[in-house]
Amino acid sequence: MSSACLKIAALAGDGIGPEVMREALRVLRAIERRFGLQFQVTEAPVGWAGIDAAGKALPDATLQLCRESDAILFGSVGLPDRDPTIPKEERPERAALLRIRKEFGLFANLRPVRLPKILAYACPLRPERQGEGLDVLVVRELTGGLYFGQPKKTEEVIEAREGAAQPRRFHRAIDTMVYTTPEIERIARVAFQAARLRRKKVTSIDKANVLENGILWREVVTRMGQEFPDVTLEHMFVDNAAMQLMLKPTQFDVMLCENLFGDILSDEAAALAGSLGMLPSASLGSTTGAQTFGFYEPAGGTAPDIAGKDLANPIAQILSVALMLRYSFQLEEAAVAIETAVSHAIGQGLRTGDIFNPADPTALKVGTQAMGEAIAGAI
Ligand code: NAD
Repeated sequence: MSSACLKIAALAGDGIGPEVMREALRVLRAIERRFGLQFQVTEAPVGWAGIDAAGKALPDATLQLCRESDAILFGSVGLPDRDPTIPKEERPERAALLRIRKEFGLFANLRPVRLPKILAYACPLRPERQGEGLDVLVVRELTGGLYFGQPKKTEEVIEAREGAAQPRRFHRAIDTMVYTTPEIERIARVAFQAARLRRKKVTSIDKANVLENGILWREVVTRMGQEFPDVTLEHMFVDNAAMQLMLKPTQFDVMLCENLFGDILSDEAAALAGSLGMLPSASLGSTTGAQTFGFYEPAGGTAPDIAGKDLANPIAQILSVALMLRYSFQLEEAAVAIETAVSHAIGQGLRTGDIFNPADPTALKVGTQAMGEAIAGAI
């Protein structure tokens, strides 16, 4: 695909956002040079930076820029210690993040968890459970299921009791798990297509032994699987999947999950990578022609404890650029070049504080900028 027309909105946000975004854009520029590409990147404020600049966590001009862009490269937003009097719905996490998810119909969340063998010490599992290194992609449905189904409410119940003078009063909370066939089909398609770019295996996670949703999920995913005969499909109950991730994570390639199960399992998988600073994520919307609208961000937050000190690991943000090239722009070779450059920098012994092992004599502790420069240099 020609990149000349590809527009990227770069929203760095708060905390470590601007520092790691700077390195991600440095790497993107290196990709342009190496592959003869040219992207139109426009930066805009979001989060507290948006409130400071324009009085809103998602300023109108920033939202308009996103609408005119082909993809959003996002840092992170939120500073827990800033102005507690601002109402919840105006705070950056809601007013910016949730608003963007809704506005762009981002229904698929992809979180690749990779732990190269060389960083085995950062993983909480014993080395023999890590095989040749971990490499799992969790594909999570993001807009349906228990989080959004109706009715969703807490109500008071008044229950008459035989022989008791007073009725019993208590509360009942109701959440509803709802999935439709088209919702399952579209997320399954994302998982199968992603598997085609990897080791061609999908493990679909459900609770078909207990939930109606699980039965429908399994039926629809099985049917979808017939459209992808080159991809191996297996089904696994969610409780077993949680256990298998700890016992033998190397058996997984793509894990396909509904919203709640994906929320939990993606965090469990993330813990295996040792540091949030290594984990990118992609949230995808609908596809038009050859392009998929996507929102790309690190899995971690604004890390106020280390912000502004050149301590943050920029790799999660840099790998988010790779995901953008892969999933929104189908520039697989360029995406792989970024991932290879990251492996190269790690292989050279470069470590930010979060992945530094003082017991390793070959490791060299570096800051955010030096890590970014090394990765850009390796492109
Ligand atoms: P956090 O992810 O910001 O930090 C958790 C821990 O991980 C901290 O010790 C931090 O230093 C470390 N960490 C995170 N990213 C790192 C990196 N790139 N390099 C090195 N270390 C890194 O989570 P938190 O402290 O719970 O949240 C801080 C703020 O971020 C909150 O306001 C929260 O709402 C917000 N947040 C935003 C997003 C988002 O924008 N998508 C996601 C999560 C949290």
